[in-house]
Amino acid sequence: MRINRLAVTGFRNYEWDTISFSGGTNVIYGSNAQGKTNLIEAVYLLAYGKSFRTRFDKELVNFGYSSSEILADVTSHEREQTVTIQIKPGVPKRILVNGVKKTANELSRTLNVVLFCPDDLNLIKEGAAVRRKLLDSAIGQIRPQYNEILSEYNRLFDHKTRILKDWHEKPSLLDTLDEFSEGMCRCSAKLIRYRAAYTSRLSEASAPIHREFSGSGEELAIRYQTVSTVTNPFSSEKEIYYEIYDHQEKHRRAEIESGQCLTGVHKDDLEITINGNSARNYASQGQARTAALSMKLAEREILLSETGEYPILLLDDVLSELDMKRQEFVLNRIGGGQTLITCCEDEGISSRTGGNVINVENGRVRACT
Ligand code: ATP
Ligand code: MG
Repeated sequence: MRINRLAVTGFRNYEWDTISFSGGTNVIYGSNAQGKTNLIEAVYLLAYGKSFRTRFDKELVNFGYSSSEILADVTSHEREQTVTIQIKPGVPKRILVNGVKKTANELSRTLNVVLFCPDDLNLIKEGAAVRRKLLDSAIGQIRPQYNEILSEYNRLFDHKTRILKDWHEKPSLLDTLDEFSEGMCRCSAKLIRYRAAYTSRLSEASAPIHREFSGSGEELAIRYQTVSTVTNPFSSEKEIYYEIYDHQEKHRRAEIESGQCLTGVHKDDLEITINGNSARNYASQGQARTAALSMKLAEREILLSETGEYPILLLDDVLSELDMKRQEFVLNRIGGGQTLITCCEDEGISSRTGGNVINVENGRVRACT
């Protein structure tokens, strides 16, 4: 899977520009605030149909424009394909693959990317939300129906939260509470099975990478943590449903009193251990970074085994955050697929990778090879 050519119009700080990429490593360099991450964001949008930086389409459109367009020629599943995203604030994004209208969910059938940015280096030590986000975006790429269930869950969650907050003013709102709780239990049961299955694959795929990466045979393991009454997240949807329902019933009163949703998958987490010890509590900064990198590289391997092709790897500003040994490890591992790397200075990365070099200056792109 690769992106051959990208054309952006009125996107972020770009007016109009077109960039050709090689199938291997592409190093995008330039000073701060020139438009490097904006390019990474454009490629991410082609696979996810949304940005990793904002929920608001308006922010994606160049200040001087009323709309923007991202167009890419890609090679995927041994076919040349064209993906177009048109963004106009106030109306839904228009997404086209080979001229045919698609939903954001369907994009992952054409293009997959794995993004690694400096925030991901904190994956281990941060709160559970970042780990849930990793799970959600990774599963969504290989199981588009997961996104639909998750959206439905989030819709029910928002609605239920509003009921729990507003019922004091309008007690009749509580009449519909159970309906939303039940819907959330149904969605949770489905999401738990997806998350448990993916976590187990992620753990299996990250362990050998981390072992090699750490150089000292450290054992990385990842375990899925969900609602406490769920005895086995791999069991049938029906069984899980009843277990969550049970938890829900027991907490119904507490939910009404506290005004918060206390049951459901919105509190899920990943328990990450190194040699059996909680990485969140005990890992050193270096160990935590190594584990985060191993997990991201594992995400790439899982996509390869699912689709038969490596996804495009987007490394935004992370290499300079890593020491030489870790940089070398990453650069040695990313062969076989296309990678876009951004960095502030060329930093010798292009000569070490032998990759295509692209310079970005003030929203203009210049090929250097
Ligand atoms: P750094 O090395 O600091 O990460 P970068 O090259 O990755 O820099 P980008 O995040 O790509 O920088 O942003 C480049 C510029 O784009 C910034 O100056 C930002 O203010 C500008 N920018 C962001 N959104 C818009 C927009 N909608 N219209 C015009 N300019 C924008
Ligand atoms: Mg940047």
